[in-house]
Amino acid sequence: MDRPRITIFDTTLRDGEQSPGCSMNVQEKLRLAQQLDRLGVDVIEAGFPIASDGDFEAVQSIAASLRRPIIAGLARACTGDVDRAWQALQGAAHPRIHVFLATSDIHLKYKLRITREKCLEQAREAVRHAKSLCVDVEFSPEDATRTDVAFLCQVVEAVIAAGATTVNIPDTVGYSMPEEYGNLIRTLRERVAGIDRVTISTHCHNDLGLAVANSLAGVQAGARQVECAINGIGERAGNASLEEIVMAMRVRPDRYPYETAIAGEHLYPSSQMLAEITRVPVQPNKAIIGRNAFAHEAGIHQDGMLKNPLTYEIMTPQSVGVPDSRLVLGKHSGRHALALRCEQLGHQFERRELDEIYRRFVVLADRIKKVQDSHLLELIQDVASGDVSNRDVAGSPSMKFPPAAATLPFPRAVSAAAGANANDSHPAQVSGSAGQASVSIPFTDHHSEQEDYLWGV
Ligand SMILES: [Zn+2]
Repeated sequence: MDRPRITIFDTTLRDGEQSPGCSMNVQEKLRLAQQLDRLGVDVIEAGFPIASDGDFEAVQSIAASLRRPIIAGLARACTGDVDRAWQALQGAAHPRIHVFLATSDIHLKYKLRITREKCLEQAREAVRHAKSLCVDVEFSPEDATRTDVAFLCQVVEAVIAAGATTVNIPDTVGYSMPEEYGNLIRTLRERVAGIDRVTISTHCHNDLGLAVANSLAGVQAGARQVECAINGIGERAGNASLEEIVMAMRVRPDRYPYETAIAGEHLYPSSQMLAEITRVPVQPNKAIIGRNAFAHEAGIHQDGMLKNPLTYEIMTPQSVGVPDSRLVLGKHSGRHALALRCEQLGHQFERRELDEIYRRFVVLADRIKKVQDSHLLELIQDVASGDVSNRDVAGSPSMKFPPAAATLPFPRAVSAAAGANANDSHPAQVSGSAGQASVSIPFTDHHSEQEDYLWGV
């Protein structure tokens, strides 16, 4: 069956980076962009080049180093911004200039202090200029959902005529309701000449907790690109959460029969990497990638899980890359297990770096019983920052690591007894790579895997 393909436009590095406490330097952005590439996003909005030299440099280095995804640079609707964005995108294999201009009366009157006529003209001119430089041009009428619909149609029609290839409809202030947002997309499709030639995109903010619901309503109404961010970060209450959108489509293809190119097993590593870089933690009950997303606490739930995980689980942890808590890292774990867990946490190492991490890991594991993900991340950070104090090795009185009693990051050990074939008929496992277990060693064969794995009970 041919399902419509949805373009995943990731704006973690632009809209996401604008959220308080989430700013990143050039190296951090490049590292995250490489992870977004592994995750399989179609478009990476790498930054807003005119905003700062740092932003310019980040867009430039991401454009130069990633060859597969489209790299987008944001620009206000004026020549200087568009030129600067284009300059930053010079090294890109697939560049996109993303032009935006507010169109709601409240923004025109109080923020931009221009008339609708001037707005229309400025949008058209900016897109025309961008198009003279780059074939791939996206236009966003900022605050579209609070814009007079007739005027919005007029602007969209003008930018399509001027050469825009994607038209994005932002719910900038997170004000829309799902049905309303879907209707707006339908209205545009009905009324705007040339709309069939372009991709319609959603960009929804989460001020009322509806960013994902609105984005999905937009897709059902005909949008074929979704703008979203890892962990749902973004201005104020954030942007639509990438992992929630992707998994909603994957778990409920009966309602959302659409495809994305996202490699599900990289969702959790991407989330962890972002949280680690920004030091903004993920809320424990966050859907898909929160610490408790796959934890079963209540006795009746645990009982059901032991009998069959399908009783309480609509997707497997493996389908989103959550490490299986059956794999416990301890002093008997080998390099392979350590490298795998590092990878699941978003870190890939050269042999030499891994040797150093392993050396420290063994010393630590000798002292504390179970090495938790949080310990491992600290250890990785120490090695990455060239910290040679060997705090972990020396075991100073102000011990850095808590005792082994710390709780498991994913207390799902309950499913260990459920057997190897209990997950076979999981709904989330039918679609592509999503079902590939991140820990690929069969549960029943672990004794034959020799020294490398120590399984929890
Ligand atoms: Zn936004």
